[in-house]
Amino acid sequence: MCGIFGYLGYQEAQPLVIDGLRSLAYRGYDSAGIAVLSSEGTLGVRKAAGKIDNLIGAATSSPLSGKLGIGHTRWATHGEPNEINSHPHFDGSGSIVVVHNGILENYAELKERLIANGHVFSSVTDTEVIPHLIQELIAEGLSFPEAVRIAAGQLRGAHAIACLHADHPQEMITLRIGNAGGVSIGHGQGEMFIASDLPALVPHTSSVTPLEPGEMAIINPEGCDVMTLDGTPVDSSRLTITVNAVSAAKGGYKHFMLKEIMEQPETAMSALRGRLSFNPGEVTLDLPFTEQEMKEFTRVVFIGMGTSSHACQIGARFIEILARIPATSENAAEFRYRDPVLDSHSLVVAVAQSGETADTLEAMHQAATAGARTLAITNVEGSQAYRQAEASILMHAGPEIGVASSKTFINSMIAMQLLALRLGATRNTIPVAASTEYVQALSHLPGLLGEALSANEGMYHKLAAKYARSRRFLFIGRGLLEPIAREGAMKLKEISYIHAEGMSAAELKHGPIALVDPETPVIAFAPRNAMYEKMLGNITEVRARSGQVIGITTAGNAGFTGLVDDTLYIPATPPLLEPLLATIPAQLLAYHMADLLGNDVDQPRNLAKSVTVE
Ligand code: GLU
Repeated sequence: MCGIFGYLGYQEAQPLVIDGLRSLAYRGYDSAGIAVLSSEGTLGVRKAAGKIDNLIGAATSSPLSGKLGIGHTRWATHGEPNEINSHPHFDGSGSIVVVHNGILENYAELKERLIANGHVFSSVTDTEVIPHLIQELIAEGLSFPEAVRIAAGQLRGAHAIACLHADHPQEMITLRIGNAGGVSIGHGQGEMFIASDLPALVPHTSSVTPLEPGEMAIINPEGCDVMTLDGTPVDSSRLTITVNAVSAAKGGYKHFMLKEIMEQPETAMSALRGRLSFNPGEVTLDLPFTEQEMKEFTRVVFIGMGTSSHACQIGARFIEILARIPATSENAAEFRYRDPVLDSHSLVVAVAQSGETADTLEAMHQAATAGARTLAITNVEGSQAYRQAEASILMHAGPEIGVASSKTFINSMIAMQLLALRLGATRNTIPVAASTEYVQALSHLPGLLGEALSANEGMYHKLAAKYARSRRFLFIGRGLLEPIAREGAMKLKEISYIHAEGMSAAELKHGPIALVDPETPVIAFAPRNAMYEKMLGNITEVRARSGQVIGITTAGNAGFTGLVDDTLYIPATPPLLEPLLATIPAQLLAYHMADLLGNDVDQPRNLAKSVTVE
């Protein structure tokens, strides 16, 4: 889950590597470090615990000079995030330096063997084993690249690695084993870059070679040689990227997350652009299936983790409602290990905003191996999920920097609704008139999101002041709003660190209602839909036990305010769009609570944006 950036060329490496790390910091931010090879052939290193600014402080007060450098921003798995455990890590001679993303599953066994051979370790990381292993293989007579390749063969688990050798000033090596996050190589003129994520390469080049799992690249200032880890040369076709880096700025907002919440009307528009046609209403998506294959799907499974898994729960409902195919959503990590029953009539849709989520990628792989058809819904063109699936529906949300997802959640749900409408049209489960209505409703979504954002003026500050000291919250909803209750609870947990649980309102009295007391606010999603009366029943049950209820309902629903303690409104909309609009108050409530509590909203503790370890 870390960020890796590397440079080899004619410019000073340090500022470029630090800038690269800054743009990757959302991937991991508990510590960071860089190593630069000087023109005299010595490897200098700077490391700092904590956020990237600490490294910038250390590196600018005592800069490293040289034209070859690698850096790392860490999300610790082995050993606390202090300076010693920060990457880069050296071998015993101080000539080999490594940065690493992943978990070295057999590190204890390798470390024991190396210690028996006289190696001395300074950190408690799994990573430090790697440079020592390379050192040992070089001592046995292998060249630097061969030693790296053979060492890679001894590493269990999934990894992305970059390394340098002090005696090889014109060489940077990077490799990838399994799905522990990507590594892409950026081609410049007389200079080369490596980065975990494509957006970090955009300021430098649009000509990029993404490494596939099981590949290694030996990079020189003019280009690179790619091979598989068994030594077979690979003809790596270049992928030209067109990511827009400009929008990754705060634009006057206090936090990226707030900016990303507020720009959802525009990003929703981007997700819809070019995909809707009217008279009659139709959805255009480039899918890799024939009409016949779409008619013969017997099952749709959505897989994802975290916020994406909440989007998946909505997606499965959309498919059942609109395309009448049995659909489920599953936690990708559980799915991958349970040998699911799938065949060529199963469609597996993997949802991952980064396209690099380790568990989701492995689950996709399992699905493809079992003969299922695969699609990815991702925000990153060229990401591993994008390349691995038969086709992708891009979220088109633009770069999301806040670690807690907001706009990518909305855009995942839009992509799912488009997919459901497209499948429904093919399978004749949606009459043409209804399809036209759905498409028209979707075209109004950006405007409705805008209305939802400007509704409830002043209320979020007021509610944050009233409730931010509560120890726990319950979020309840029914139907399409049950997953939104779960997502609302997750947002609150992620950025405010207040314990929250989200569930079906019907589930409340089967256990969780024991938690209800005057100190436990209950957020109830109760727009005026088919479940409204049932929700009112659940709200009454909470209030009968002295619970405080913040109710989210449809604008103009007079009479509701008397039934709850506080009210937030969303615009009136057809039921299929309610989950998207109801997400807005949940996001803003979480944001304002976290901000009031003085938390680091964009980089909350213990989290990382792209979870590339299992
Ligand atoms: N396992 C390594 C460590 O704990 C790498 C973690 C990461 O991917 O940032 O240092």
